[in-house]
Amino acid sequence: MWRIVQRVTLADHHQSPEKEKKLVFLTARVHPGESPASFICQGVIDFLVSQHPVAQILRDHVIFKIVPMLNPDGVYLGNYRCSLMGFDLNRHWQDPSPWAHPTLHAVKQLIVQMSQDPRVSLEFYIDVHAHSTMLNGFMYGNVFEDEERVQRQAVFPRLLCQNAPDFSFSNTSFNRDVVKAGTGRRFLGGLLDDTSYCYTLEVSFYSYMTAGSTAPVPYTEETYMKLGRNVARTFLDYYKLNNLIKDNRPTHIQSSEVKSHTGGGNGKGNGVGRDAADREREKSQGVRH
Ligand SMILES: [Zn+2]
Repeated sequence: MWRIVQRVTLADHHQSPEKEKKLVFLTARVHPGESPASFICQGVIDFLVSQHPVAQILRDHVIFKIVPMLNPDGVYLGNYRCSLMGFDLNRHWQDPSPWAHPTLHAVKQLIVQMSQDPRVSLEFYIDVHAHSTMLNGFMYGNVFEDEERVQRQAVFPRLLCQNAPDFSFSNTSFNRDVVKAGTGRRFLGGLLDDTSYCYTLEVSFYSYMTAGSTAPVPYTEETYMKLGRNVARTFLDYYKLNNLIKDNRPTHIQSSEVKSHTGGGNGKGNGVGRDAADREREKSQGVRH
């Protein structure tokens, strides 16, 4: 399965001209109560602006646009989910009002503008959230008819799973529930072209389990930030796989990276947290994230 994904990605993915700059757009904290999302975002930013050789290479090849707080008034007020005016902003991507949902309206305009800019290629949109019942970090993606696109969409979470021991591929799922139609991931998944990938990145509010362990480990601010750093570095693996970035770093940097962050490394995910059964239970309990 993994071999097939690699071959498809290498052969078919890049139809766009070389001169286009790749663009990654990241947002967080649309739900103000989900503070772990801010620590993840902090980890991403800290890594990208650091002197780490991987960060330097990424800055040379990829543009990162980051909106760390989509719902600042909700955060200020201490709301759990809504904005000042009582809206769940993550249900209004389809038609945000400049008056009622100003931050969302502005960010959506920026994303649409960038998706039409011939100088850049908007390839990733990732919206960071926190989850109140699941363990580990994991992702939600979209459902497509095109099997090849489905496989390409699974590449990034699989690579992240190799780099972050607390990220679970088996908790990662792809859906098209009607109730999620107004979310950033779903709306932009329909708006952007078929070489773009839109995900929700979720992280547990409380714990993760790594491969082979029997007890959950409580997340800390530091381990949330570490997941953020691992998300950032995974873009190097992704763009190496797609031949955008030629890897000419010294060998000791390449190997130490992989060894120190591989959680099992069998490509099947280290998802020892909750699984499909938990998701079903969650659905029946009406859990939101
Ligand atoms: Zn959320």
